[in-house]
Order: sequence, then C-alpha cells, then structure tokens
Amino acid sequence: MADIARIRHVAARLVRAKDEGHDVVAVVSAMGDVTDELLEMARQLTDRPSRRELDMLLATGEQVSSALLALAINSLGYRAVALTGGQGGIITDGGFTRARILKVDPARIREEMARGNIVVVAGFQGVGPGNDITTLGRGGSDATAVALAAALGAPVCDICTDVDGVYTADPRVVRNARKLPVISYEEMMELAYVGARVLQARAVEMASQQRVVIHLRSSFSDGPGTLVKEVPAVENAKPVVGVVHDPDVARVTLLSVPDRPGVAHRIFYALAEAGINVDMIVQSTRHEASTDVLFTVSRADLMQAMEIVQAVGRELGAGGCVFDAGVGKVSIVGSGMATHPGVAARMFGALARNGINIQVISTSEIRISCLIDAADLERAVTALHDEFELGLG
Ligand code: ASP
Ligand code: MG
Repeated sequence: MADIARIRHVAARLVRAKDEGHDVVAVVSAMGDVTDELLEMARQLTDRPSRRELDMLLATGEQVSSALLALAINSLGYRAVALTGGQGGIITDGGFTRARILKVDPARIREEMARGNIVVVAGFQGVGPGNDITTLGRGGSDATAVALAAALGAPVCDICTDVDGVYTADPRVVRNARKLPVISYEEMMELAYVGARVLQARAVEMASQQRVVIHLRSSFSDGPGTLVKEVPAVENAKPVVGVVHDPDVARVTLLSVPDRPGVAHRIFYALAEAGINVDMIVQSTRHEASTDVLFTVSRADLMQAMEIVQAVGRELGAGGCVFDAGVGKVSIVGSGMATHPGVAARMFGALARNGINIQVISTSEIRISCLIDAADLERAVTALHDEFELGLG
C-alpha cells in the first residue's frame, strides 16, 4: 500500500472478494517506508527512546493505512470499518516493540462482519496491560493476519506483499533464483529466522501451531505465490531448499575472559536485560585460564551491546572488547539435510573454492549458517545456490 493508487487497488480487490460472497477481514501494514521514517524521526530526537512511546509512534502507521483503506472501500459504495489492533481484539503482553500476542478476542470483528462491513484491522499492533498500545516486532502485520485467521477459523491466510512468493535465494542477487510453490512451516521458520525478510518468523511459528495455511503472494497480481503449510517428509527431496544471506550482522568479541563458571551467564544475562537479541555464540577453548567469547547481534544493537559488554568485561577482569560491523551471515536451509550426509562438507567446499573464509559456523537440524566477510556475501549466496542446484532449468 505505497500510495493512494495502491490503496484503491487493494480496496477493489477486497470488494471483489465481498461480491464473491465472502466475509472479508483485511489486515494492513503501514504505507511504504512509513515505519522506517517514524523510527528515523525518533532517532533524531534520542538514541535511547522509551519503548512504550516508540510503540505509540509506530502504531500510527498502520492506523493511517486502515482508515484510508476503509474510506477507499466506502468510495466504491461498500461498507467498511477500520479498527485498531486493540479494537480488533489483539491482546498482547507488555513487551513494547516486540510484544507477543496472548489472546485474540474477535467479538467486535464478528459483529462488524454481521453488519455487512468489510473489516480493516491495523496490523502490527495490539493492546497490552494497562490498555497500552504495543507493537509486534518488525513485519508484525503478518502475525496479526495469522492470529486473526486462526481466531476466525479461516483455513487460509493470504499475505499480499511486494514479492510474489518465497524464492530459493534473493532474486535481486541470484538471477536464476526460483519461486517455490510450496514450503513447509519448519523450513519457512528457519528461512525467516536467518534473515529472509518475506515473512515474520513469529507469524510462521503461529501459523504452524494453529495450522493456518499461509499463501504468500503479490499484492500487484492475482497469480499464485508460495503456500506455507504442513508438508510430509519426502524421501529423496533436495537436501537444501533455499539460501539466505543477511547483511544485518555485527560481531562482538570479548577477549581473555576468565574461564570459570558463571561468566557466560553474566555476559548474556546483561544483554538479555537490555532486550538485545544475540544470534551466534562461540566460546573458544584454549589450554589456558581464559577464553574468548564471540557473539553476533544486529547492527542496530551493536553500540549498546559494546557498552554492556565493556562494563561486564571490566567487572570480570577480561582483556578487552572488539567489534566488526563488516560481517554477514549466509545460511542454507532444508529439512532433507537431516537425512542427507555431507551437506555441510559441500557447503564449506563451495565457499572454499570461492576463496571465502568462514569465521563462525552454527547449525540446527535443518540449517547451516556461516559468518563471513560482508563483502563476500553475494558471491557466497550465488556459489551455494549453484552448488545445491537450486536454480531454474
Ligand atoms: N509496519 C511494520 C514494519 O514495517 C509492520 C509490517 O510491515 O508488517 O515492520
Ligand atoms: Mg512495513
């Protein structure tokens, strides 16, 4: 919903669904880059914004969209009502900027549908303890949509976006990337966790728990996109379904940390208290009384993470603290890898042949991620996409 023309287009699409005899509930996200622009304004005022006020601010983006879309539907001669997340019954915990949905009470939405209204709910937001407005983390409109689909008993939740599906790699980087017609919840969750920005990880997790099928498709056309659903394990499936690269990574290393119980807890407890998400963690084993502890965070959290770790490091008598914001992560995902031996070796081989150095490796049952130089990221994705023969033709 980038502009008024797009809003008209979405309104027409909803009206068509209504004419086909459906009850229609739409969840909208903010227009264009509005969320980023609001965040940037807050950043110009302070680098330590109150998270409650950030949510007050960010939630306005979706309210604008919902009201405009309802007006656009009205202008076509149909009844519509715009609701905030709270009015739509999205009840969350109090974790501002990354709140979790605790419960959905769709009573008001049902009432409005019964009155013949097309219901337009502001995505990405809910209401927490004390009636405070909360937001659900970046991409959180996906979570709103899935939660409402589950609460209303809809078998499929269409998520319309600026891409037309889930690809084997970012098609802007890998020219022969292929659109996947179907992907399992587990694989989609891993892709989302490691940085594929097409769907919010939490929304996929919720869809998987509530058995809501997600149809990720283009908001510009009616063609089929990618279905995210339960997929029975197939023997001989390709070991890898997708390659993801994430440039939003920074590495922090705490040097010469005393090697004794409780040290890792001190460091990561302090980071957790500050609400910083830590991704990869490595503690080296040396034959000495001290070790190095390395971890990665998103770039936006780097400076705060450094401050925290410097303070903890001083208390622990560590040898100092360094960071590198010039790193990135490349990951391969596929549930077939659990049963195919040698996938890791193939991944490392492809990187080696391209002269790409691996700094850190981490794995789950269906994923392998490597931390590498940011400058090598695009070459790495292309090499891995070729290695696992994910392209067209
Ligand atoms: N507007 C929010 C964001 O940009 C939520 C969303 O787009 O789903 O993260
Ligand atoms: Mg957005």
